Amino acid sequence: MSDELVTIHDASTEQLFEINEITQEFELKIDKLRKIQNYFMKQLKIGLEKDGQNLSMVPSFVTSVPTGNEIGTYLTLDLGGTNLRVCKVILEGGGKIHIIEGQLYEISEDLKTGDITVLFDFIADCVENLLSKEWGDSIQKNDKIDLGFTFSFPIIQTAINKGTLLKWTKGFTCTGAVGNDIVSILQESFNRKSLPVKVTALINDTVGTALAHAYSHPKVILGAILGTGTNGAYFERLENIKKLNHNFDSSDKMIINIEWGAFDSEKVILPITQYDNKLDKESNNPNSQIFEKLISGMYLGEITRNILLHLIDRSLLFNGLSSKSLNQHYAFETKYMSIIESDNTETLENTKQILENLFHISITNLTDRQIVKRICQLVGIRASRLSSIALASIISYCKMEGNECCIGIDGSLFEKYPNFSIRIYNTLKEFFGENADKIGLHYTCNGSSVGAALAAFSANQSKSKFKL
Ligand code: ADP
Ligand code: MG
Repeated sequence: MSDELVTIHDASTEQLFEINEITQEFELKIDKLRKIQNYFMKQLKIGLEKDGQNLSMVPSFVTSVPTGNEIGTYLTLDLGGTNLRVCKVILEGGGKIHIIEGQLYEISEDLKTGDITVLFDFIADCVENLLSKEWGDSIQKNDKIDLGFTFSFPIIQTAINKGTLLKWTKGFTCTGAVGNDIVSILQESFNRKSLPVKVTALINDTVGTALAHAYSHPKVILGAILGTGTNGAYFERLENIKKLNHNFDSSDKMIINIEWGAFDSEKVILPITQYDNKLDKESNNPNSQIFEKLISGMYLGEITRNILLHLIDRSLLFNGLSSKSLNQHYAFETKYMSIIESDNTETLENTKQILENLFHISITNLTDRQIVKRICQLVGIRASRLSSIALASIISYCKMEGNECCIGIDGSLFEKYPNFSIRIYNTLKEFFGENADKIGLHYTCNGSSVGAALAAFSANQSKSKFKL
């Protein structure tokens, strides 16, 4: 497989046999990657034709690609999983942006599980804080400040400022939200407080990343997330979005939120191992988000833990002894894989620390630690190779092979996991040869805030095209 894999010294025949088996199970040769890529591209097309497909291909109703010349001042809100971020974003033109960050507010359990009006009234208070700090008395009577809202939960969007919540995820259960338009509920909260704010655009984080990156990089074709989950959004020609029955100017493009985390949830083509199946069965959403479960930060540590337990049960690791801590679901977080993968000490001391001090494995020898490192590498390499399929599919689908282009990527997995980006790049080289040199992979942050401001700008520009 890859020549970066750690060699395992002094292993028994049984250990070597099992490690080789696992190594083969996780190996993904380019032929297989190409097959998955073909299938991915077919799914892209089907998702644009009909609703309810494997790839949802959600229209964002953002119909302009930023040029970098957009100018304006916007309020932005980013409601993801844990925190609420409120910002003042100034688009200065010439690809320049100035962000004034308000406070980062933690969303309490009570707010996550109460009524939606309580949560949104709280958000209105947070917005009021930033308004009085940053705008003060400068707001003229009858003036309204445009607000872009990044809301990263599953919604069906029917306009740039209209979206119905399908279901809550990430521990939220607020009543009064599912089936309703999120923008209207938020607007009512602002109105109740007589705040001079108009919710102009609703987007998710992937769309935000694509928009934000386009502002300073005109050659962007895709915005992607590699964090807790994984997803992507790209620019599609309106005439290709067959399932939209609108009369648009066909020269326009619209950003499509692919929702690729759900790719192949029927398990037709992805290389699912027993360790992945175990994770899926025990998850709170079995048989869904299968691609995401092979790739993203929330799951990689758990796949690794499943393999370690498999080896322990066969007495091939740690003398067959696990620990209470290692037996805990999701206890082995992806960030530990990062530390282990970058442990280049001769005796794998950092790995030893994690296993013995953090997970209370009574004693580990070097062979054990090399095995653990190998497992992390196998899971990490597979994740980066699988995520490359999504990127390669969009590059091929958009016929950009051989052309200069770039991809904006947000998320801690991409940012912090050692070699994740290099492995993606090397896989793209297998797909496209020398042409891979023309593809830029850029880490982008602030996509949610900057993207929300650009979506608000775009909404105002396209008022003539859509009924807002
Ligand atoms: P989100 O996707 O929720 O917006 P992030 O992009 O920050 O948030 O991603 C958080 C995820 O990244 C965590 O769930 C964790 O799995 C993963 N992560 C955090 N730190 C690291 C790290 N050092 N190495 C690898 N993965 C990490
Ligand atoms: Mg994020």
